Amino acid sequence: MIITEKKPLTELLENLEGFEKVFLIGCSDCAALAQTGGDKELEALTIKFTQAGKEVVGTLLSDGPCHNLRAKQELRGVSDEVSQADALVVLACGAGVQAVADLVSQPVMPGLNSLFLGNVKRYGWFEERCSTCGECLIADTGGICPVTRCAKSLVNGPCGGSQDGMCEVGGDRPCVWAQIMDRLKEQGRTGKLDKYQPMKDFERSIKPGVVDLRMENQDARSERLAMVIDGREEKYAHSEFGKRNWQIMLDDVKPEGLTRLQRDLDAGKFVQTAEIVPPKGVAIEKVLQYGKDIRDYVIAVNVNENPASVMRLNSLSLSHLFAREGIEPIFHITTRERNRLALQSELLGAYVLGVRNVLVLTGDHQSMGDHKEAKPVYDLDSVQLLRLCTEMMGGKDYNGHDLDGAPDFYLGAVVNPGSDLLDLQIMKMRKKALAGARYFFTQAIYDLKIFENFMDQVKDMDVKILAGIIPLKSAKMARFMNKNIPGITVPEKLIGRMEKAQDRTAESISICKEISEGCRDLCNGVHIMPIGWYSIIPQIFDPVKD
Ligand code: SF4
Ligand code: SF4
Repeated sequence: MIITEKKPLTELLENLEGFEKVFLIGCSDCAALAQTGGDKELEALTIKFTQAGKEVVGTLLSDGPCHNLRAKQELRGVSDEVSQADALVVLACGAGVQAVADLVSQPVMPGLNSLFLGNVKRYGWFEERCSTCGECLIADTGGICPVTRCAKSLVNGPCGGSQDGMCEVGGDRPCVWAQIMDRLKEQGRTGKLDKYQPMKDFERSIKPGVVDLRMENQDARSERLAMVIDGREEKYAHSEFGKRNWQIMLDDVKPEGLTRLQRDLDAGKFVQTAEIVPPKGVAIEKVLQYGKDIRDYVIAVNVNENPASVMRLNSLSLSHLFAREGIEPIFHITTRERNRLALQSELLGAYVLGVRNVLVLTGDHQSMGDHKEAKPVYDLDSVQLLRLCTEMMGGKDYNGHDLDGAPDFYLGAVVNPGSDLLDLQIMKMRKKALAGARYFFTQAIYDLKIFENFMDQVKDMDVKILAGIIPLKSAKMARFMNKNIPGITVPEKLIGRMEKAQDRTAESISICKEISEGCRDLCNGVHIMPIGWYSIIPQIFDPVKD
């Protein structure tokens, strides 16, 4: 059913300015169940409008105004009252309001906001379950919809943000991927999780949607869909829909020695990198100086893209400026704010601007940042974007059109070894590697035992792994991260050291050095996420030798 909410009275009265006589229409179906447009609500609104000086000339509780023919008949029965009205207010979903607007000559105002297509969990308790995406995939996800129930619509596995099984967004609802895993485990079908879910075909859901069974019955539609899918397999014969094995495709586009990061990792060196956050504005002198200050201590600099969903200078611009200064950038590209058209353009732009290391991420949800009201895009997830990068490196765009010059990238991704959904993290990491990721940056590591356990589970993978380190500023910061940042566990022993330290900077440097040393036998390098404390980097790392 369509779930609705009541518009504020002030908004309704504003819409009715200049109209004295009003006719009200409710809906005995969805809106009545949602307690927004049934008998009671019509009665209550009649009283409120009357108190506000309006004359309610009549009301109609429709059996469902979204049904045009039925609404026409129902309106005929009240045509005298309707004809007296200056305007109508409809307490139904947007479809119902529009049906009425097509049937009368007066202005028709919506009385409700339509929210989502939902299930009735209990009387008065509704939850969104389907976004009508047009390509139902829940046969592979245990009958649970990740398109709708994951805040980022991730279809190839979870982000690294769940905590105690709860979603990073809001924290008051379960991570749907934990539910999918549980359901598939119960059914003995966890193998379904390994399947690559391709990018959705939004051409099939161009607005407005129309199904006309006078022209084509449901069976004929289904046959036509089968032909569309066949045609798509043909169209993507070079791609994941076609016959070609992914590994062959990857081998075709595996550039060697493309960047210093790649050369050093492939040469078996233990590499040092660090992260620099672009400014919130155009004052770039400081960050360029930070880059120069640390360039002898790292082989490459990660340049974040709107970290924590806080709007900043984009990663590509700063990556390009670093490249011009001889500082090797690792360009971050997120799927949060661009669709596949924009992502491909940006990747081509990155290549011509001299950027070769590309780190593909989903990105923190926009509700965590400073533009909470922004529209989330998530046209692709990180696995799909990696796959798309690989296609582009093979000389094709998403639709298989030839590129006039193919880019070469050294592709990387992220993983959270401390995730509460570690099995799913590793499943997704394997998909990312199959899609083209050659190296992984991890969430911050403080407990080497947890990291060792993770490394043990992925030792068969032919990828490079760089462990993340966030220098601790205080015991309070460590406790904050333990509580609030998914996958971070700072052991009590380290917190105690920070608490007792006379010189906290010196203690923090010692801890970072110990973790870095501890990682030498476990992985391929470390990367420092200094959270603005750039001056600490030369104190943790020795200068990099050529
Ligand atoms: S995958 Fe989800 S959004 Fe798409 S049709 Fe199925 S239930 Fe609806
Ligand atoms: S934690 Fe991440 S993967 Fe899980 S539901 Fe939330 S956004 Fe989706």
